[in-house]
Amino acid sequence: KLLVDLKNVGKVYPNGTIAVQNANLEVTEGEFLCFVGPSGCGKSTIFNMITGLTNHTEGDLSVLGTTPFQARKQNEIAFVFQEHTLLPWTNLLENVTLPLKLRGVPKKTRMEEGARVLELVGLKDYMKVLPRQLSGGMKMRVSIARALISRPKLLLMDEPFGALDEITRQTLQDELLGIWQKDKSMTVLFITHNVFEAVFLSTRVVVMTPRPGKIAEIIDIPHPFP
Ligand code: ADP
Ligand code: ADP
Repeated sequence: KLLVDLKNVGKVYPNGTIAVQNANLEVTEGEFLCFVGPSGCGKSTIFNMITGLTNHTEGDLSVLGTTPFQARKQNEIAFVFQEHTLLPWTNLLENVTLPLKLRGVPKKTRMEEGARVLELVGLKDYMKVLPRQLSGGMKMRVSIARALISRPKLLLMDEPFGALDEITRQTLQDELLGIWQKDKSMTVLFITHNVFEAVFLSTRVVVMTPRPGKIAEIIDIPHPFP
């Protein structure tokens, strides 16, 4: 099943910057793709086009069989960023269930789903804790839990572990792989500057080059997982 399909996709910003040129990429369900490349090679622009935050200016782009805008409206796409965007004055359960609350999901379901995702990231004993009481790694786990609560088909992560120390980063890499392996229908797109991280995590690595931003190479990674 084809989840993301870029055909000769390009992006020229209004100021004339050619951020992405001639990108071709087919992502099938259940893949874990890492995007690597120097700053300015168009990684964020590709993510922003896939999620409909910015429009593509060349080529054809379909996401989950429809337009990025429609796919996002159907709550099938979730994001995780490096900077956690947790609400500081509400506890973890309220933080992770916020996307459901905004959609009017009844409280009982919200609480059940909140407990489910906090358990997934190993934080079920911290439901009533405030974010500021947590370490950086734990805050990232909460951000991941909040992204997972809508059971997204497509999870986009932009340098999520970039600010973490090496040990915490490796722990979270293992945990993320565990979560991804459990749910065979979830596809992950992941930006990283760390080539080791890319090779460790992904089923394919997309290597990009700047000026103008292009997909230079797509490398298959033989995965040790079933
Ligand atoms: P990163 O390498 O983490 O993607 P960037 O500095 O390239 O960080 O970009 C961060 C955000 O700032 C991007 O998502 C982009 O929308 C915006 N941005 C980057 N360069 C420009 C620019 N020249 N003009 C306007 N916005 C920009
Ligand atoms: P990366 O995420 O790989 O660092 P970006 O996608 O952020 O790369 O940026 C690709 C190119 O597009 C860069 O030259 C950047 O300065 C430029 N850019 C990004 N956002 C904007 C924007 N909103 N307006 C103009 N130029 C931008």
